[in-house]
Amino acid sequence: MKIHEYQAKEIFSKFAIPVPKGSAARAGKEAKQIAEEIGGSQWVVKAQIHAGGRGKAGGVRVADTPEAVVEIAEEMLGMSLVTPQTGPQGVRVSKVLVEEALAVKQEFYVGAAVDRARQCPVLIAGSEGGMEIEELAKSHPERIVRERVDVGLGLPAFQVRNLLFGMGMDAGLMRAGTGVIRGLYRLFDSFDCTLAEINPLVVTEDGRLLALDAKIDFDDNAMFRHKDLLELEDAGEKDPLELEASRHRLNYIRMDGNVGIMVNGAGLAMATMDLIKQAGASPANFLDVGGGATTEMVTKGFEIILGDKNVRGILINIFGGILRCDVLANGVVEAASKVRINVPVVVRLEGTNVEQGRKILAGSGLDFVVADSMADAAEKVRGIASS
Ligand code: GDP
Ligand code: MN
Repeated sequence: MKIHEYQAKEIFSKFAIPVPKGSAARAGKEAKQIAEEIGGSQWVVKAQIHAGGRGKAGGVRVADTPEAVVEIAEEMLGMSLVTPQTGPQGVRVSKVLVEEALAVKQEFYVGAAVDRARQCPVLIAGSEGGMEIEELAKSHPERIVRERVDVGLGLPAFQVRNLLFGMGMDAGLMRAGTGVIRGLYRLFDSFDCTLAEINPLVVTEDGRLLALDAKIDFDDNAMFRHKDLLELEDAGEKDPLELEASRHRLNYIRMDGNVGIMVNGAGLAMATMDLIKQAGASPANFLDVGGGATTEMVTKGFEIILGDKNVRGILINIFGGILRCDVLANGVVEAASKVRINVPVVVRLEGTNVEQGRKILAGSGLDFVVADSMADAAEKVRGIASS
């Protein structure tokens, strides 16, 4: 689960990581109030979306008067911000973060992530911040240091020092730097994060160390341990179809092809996507209705697939084990009676109650294309995609 920068900074503060003064606004007037409360003579207005790369895309702008804060905030609010990380359609901005502007002398990178190969947390520090860490890792690998953490031991002082020396932190900032790295690791560990990142961590002209940007991703599989964090989720950032699917406990992920799929079991879903690719087409989604799917879930799944306007055909590939073929067939027929289906539907059924299932489909009066094997289904999908 991702959260916004302003929310991540509130969490940073609780872990004693210094952040610029500021808070989030939903309207120009509110943005002005915040700027006046902060005081000073320069402010930064930052679009709050779940994607980085905002700086270069016009999502981070400096204002010299509270009036300019209002102007910039009103321009950003409601716009669709396109950054290298959002995709071409961009993401709608519904909040901006108004902060004191800082005179920046130096930018670093600090992050905590999961090292999947070594199965442990890894702390990463870079002597240059502001840019994407992946780029720095490619162009100047020597400017990045990594420390893998033994969760049993926690974070020993020598590893903190390795990071700070490795990133070239001034001797006078060692104490402050230690606080930042310790705080970051503590929050990463205690909230079951997959990522906690400060990019950039800055030194100001007056010698302070602050997190200028903040990014936190929580592990969805651990959210049951952090129910209080769920309220930080911004539903507006999610794909509406994916949101609808999660409300009905359907494993649905939207993709950019045009063949919608409905499958039971993640393995079969993967195999079906391969099959579609092999047939020269592309899947529009991943949808695993699961073993215990009810007629209602199948109906909902069907509606969700059809909600994607790119879908030109649907492949239903079911192996009836716990989910019986007749239940699936009833769900499909019920869905078909509710929503107008204007694309061809190829159905391949196998397993428990397959005969009953086929009978239901055949007797429905609806126009399903029945495939009798995976290979046959692939052939029929090829037809759909090229029509
Ligand atoms: P991102 O591009 O989405 O990662 O957004 P960031 O929060 O990292 O902001 C982009 C860049 O704007 C930063 O790397 C900084 O260089 C710059 N920036 C943001 N706030 C300030 C500020 O208060 N003062 C100065 N001088 N630069 C800032
Ligand atoms: Mn950044």
